[in-house]
Amino acid sequence: MSESNNSEQRLSGVIPLRDIQQKFKQHIEELLSAEKAHLPKMPAPPKPRLPRKPKAIRELETQVEQLLEERALPHLRKLKETVKKKVTGAMLELQTRTDYYTNVAEWLEHKQKMLSEADETSIYRWDTKGKYKIYYLTRPNAGKQITDNNPYVNFVDIEEFDLATEIYPTFEHPPVWDYSEYAILFFTPVFKEAFGQADVFISQIQADNERMWEEGQGKRIPPVAAEKEPDLHKLKEEIREYAKTLDFPCMGVTKLDRRHTAAKVDDELAYDTLIVLGHEMPLSNVLKIPGPSFAAFTSYRDGGHNVHKVADFIRSKGYRCLARTSADGGIKYVPHAINAGMGNYSTQGICITPEVGTRPRFVCITLDAELPLDEPRDYNIEEFCARCRSCQKVCPADAIPKDEKRFRGTLKRQTNHTRCWEYMAIQYECGLCVRICPFSILGYEQCMRALPQYYMYNLHRNEIDAELLRSSWKLEESTNG
Ligand code: SF4
Ligand code: SF4
Repeated sequence: MSESNNSEQRLSGVIPLRDIQQKFKQHIEELLSAEKAHLPKMPAPPKPRLPRKPKAIRELETQVEQLLEERALPHLRKLKETVKKKVTGAMLELQTRTDYYTNVAEWLEHKQKMLSEADETSIYRWDTKGKYKIYYLTRPNAGKQITDNNPYVNFVDIEEFDLATEIYPTFEHPPVWDYSEYAILFFTPVFKEAFGQADVFISQIQADNERMWEEGQGKRIPPVAAEKEPDLHKLKEEIREYAKTLDFPCMGVTKLDRRHTAAKVDDELAYDTLIVLGHEMPLSNVLKIPGPSFAAFTSYRDGGHNVHKVADFIRSKGYRCLARTSADGGIKYVPHAINAGMGNYSTQGICITPEVGTRPRFVCITLDAELPLDEPRDYNIEEFCARCRSCQKVCPADAIPKDEKRFRGTLKRQTNHTRCWEYMAIQYECGLCVRICPFSILGYEQCMRALPQYYMYNLHRNEIDAELLRSSWKLEESTNG
């Protein structure tokens, strides 16, 4: 402060407050600087130091880490993958089950509806076009009543037509007969052996089949006489007599039961009256078995050819009709033959007729004439079969079942075709079941006369004694004589 200012202040007698504050601040700062100058320099606080682990522990830790890496971790990763897969699988399965139960629920609902719409003449048909593989109702079925009232034919029990006995709704539909496949796989070598040229034999069968398909589908319309034979009893007998001249020794008339026909031929079976004809495999040929006889094949071929001739005969009498050969598998002939009173079921699953035993091969004709129907009959054949079972015992392919089986609500006795065909393809033929059958060789009358002894013969035996089989009736014959 200058001397003049101080003197001014003193002179005035007042020191400004601002100056006092300034001075005081300055003084404090000076004091602090002096104090700081004497403060000791403090060292930074030491960092905490952990004690070093012993070497053994460090090595152990390294080993543990290595082991984890080598063993445990891959295992755990694998486990994780497995668990992941299982969870995904379980979810998928759950989804599938849910879909399945939804399908079944819809299927049951459909079935319920179908059953409520059914009446006494309704039948069910496997639906290959629907969303699920389910049955649908067909048109009224003329032969149903005959079958249902025929104690010699077993057929589906409506009470058993349910989930437990049906194929699941998402399964494939039953296989359809594919003649060409079997011809190539099984029969071509057989035909070649039998007839030299398999192609010729197959083309003969094929020609009659093609005629059948073309007529059934309306592509070929055979001429029908303008004048109708008015007496249907007479017509029936005339057909029978004419058929006999073409190696059809047995004939029966019934109504077509569409449960025993394939869906694919529904439209080709335009008429409901059905004539079943049995084409005879000649006994002389059957007796050549187990040597090559080819009796069945020639009979299928000739029966298929001759049935068209019988159909033409019917047309000449003024009635429309359609022939079916036995080679296309569109109709099951056995139940129809039994409905037509031609014979009874056998252990082989085929119809034994009194005329020729197991030797007929069946064909049929549907026609628009109300021919008198034949009644189903009990010929005591099943009784005989139950005590015989020779065919079942002799079958080298084990294709003939000993007992009836309940299959999808039906009691069935059916030869296992696949086993039989496979065996025949390997052996070029078989036919032992026909050759051993007493009905085929000895005839119906002799079988019936031998029935009491036959029971004794077979009661405790499991092997076939052909001599005894033949001697039983001879014995009775000589006793009676
Ligand atoms: S061989 Fe005997 S069991 Fe077999 S079909 Fe003939 S009679 Fe019946
Ligand atoms: S033909 Fe031969 S394989 Fe076929 S069912 Fe008869 S015995 Fe068995």
